[in-house]
Amino acid sequence: MKIESDVNLQRFNTLSIQSTAQYFAQPQNVLQLQQCYDFAQQNDLTIKVLGGGSNVVMADVVMGLVVQFVGNEFEIINESDSDVVIRVGAGFNWHELVMNCLDKGFYGLENLAYIPGHVGAAPVQNIGAYGVEVKDFIERVNGVYLATHENFSFNNAECRFEYRESCFKQNLDGQCLITSVEFRLSKIEQVKIDYSPLKQMAEERGLPSARKLADWVIEVRKSKLPEPSELPNAGSFFKNPVVDQSSFETLISLFPTIPHYFSGAQVKLAAGWMIDQCGLKGQFFGPVSVHQLQALVLINHGGTAQNVASAAQAIKDKVQQKYGIELEQEPRLFS
Ligand code: FAD
Ligand code: NAP
Repeated sequence: MKIESDVNLQRFNTLSIQSTAQYFAQPQNVLQLQQCYDFAQQNDLTIKVLGGGSNVVMADVVMGLVVQFVGNEFEIINESDSDVVIRVGAGFNWHELVMNCLDKGFYGLENLAYIPGHVGAAPVQNIGAYGVEVKDFIERVNGVYLATHENFSFNNAECRFEYRESCFKQNLDGQCLITSVEFRLSKIEQVKIDYSPLKQMAEERGLPSARKLADWVIEVRKSKLPEPSELPNAGSFFKNPVVDQSSFETLISLFPTIPHYFSGAQVKLAAGWMIDQCGLKGQFFGPVSVHQLQALVLINHGGTAQNVASAAQAIKDKVQQKYGIELEQEPRLFS
């Protein structure tokens, strides 16, 4: 394993921001990870953990040692007639994992097909799409604390998963490196088609197999979401806001067509719809634009983290003025 200096991170982030890492390494296993700790300690460097770079906004310069753990083992650790527990290295590509599991007859992850990134980042924001969240399949998350190099192994409850949240984004933010994730998957096919595009496809085409459902998810995503290789982006740039019942009642009286989804005592709103209603679809803020088809996605046309931050702030201000709602940014600054 090489530890290189002054590495251009442009190809390591889907917003394609020009950024220089002071040092960069891609350890494959715990031994190589140990070399990273030693190097960081000897040179008084902070370790910054990167996955596939699809949910970060890269700063111009990232000081310290950027570590992209690429260990990608796949192991069955427990199996019965009805389900299976697999342990997967953090460096495994997420979409390939979903498709590999379907090939093996391990079901559950199909709605999460075609999400970019690595397995190690999936628990960080509890990735979700089309009514499924990865937390529903996670048994354990294994990793190391960066300060002490001690191992940890958290069960599902200890990860404190919430909507696009976990302890890894909260108190452990920047403090740990996830090395593997254990998933419990079903051997019994049962598809989830609650979200409207999938429901509509099922009505038109019949109930899909899990494998077919993954194909549908890929089809819908390709029709709505820009490919980062063509139009650099980080997926949804803002989280969908969740408000309480009384705030919702005020909003619906002012904006009767506002899309909303009840979840217990809370109501989830569609941030993309609000941005669209502010007339921002297709609008440019310097070198950053709001995507024509999906207003929740920002496209970077050669800008820096500062350009992306200014665009995001301008959008947040417009939504705040019109709806009184403060949007929360999903991708974090990587600096
Ligand atoms: P990165 O962007 O590299 O990192 C994200 C964060 O996790 C950083 O803070 C990083 O430090 C931390 N991290 C990464 N790996 C580790 C590790 N091994 N240990 C500890 N911390 C780590 N997200 C969804 O939830 N649902 C979607 O449907 C979805 N669709 C998307 C579509 C597009 C086109 C794009 C570009 C993004 C989309 N995303 C979606 C966002 C993104 O793909 C996910 O959040 C993904 O899990 C990020 O993975 P990554 O490996 O690229 O992480
Ligand atoms: P969409 O269908 O245009 O819907 C807009 C939003 O409404 C979604 O974000 C979704 O919230 C919510 N929604 C729709 N139907 C719902 C239902 N039946 N129950 C509860 N909430 C519902 O969404 P989209 O932008 O094309 O995305 C499709 C899915 O992929 C969504 O789940 C979305 O989160 C996910 N996605 C995420 C990212 C990312 O970067 N985080 C990027 C692209 C797509 P939820 O977000 O809670 O699902």
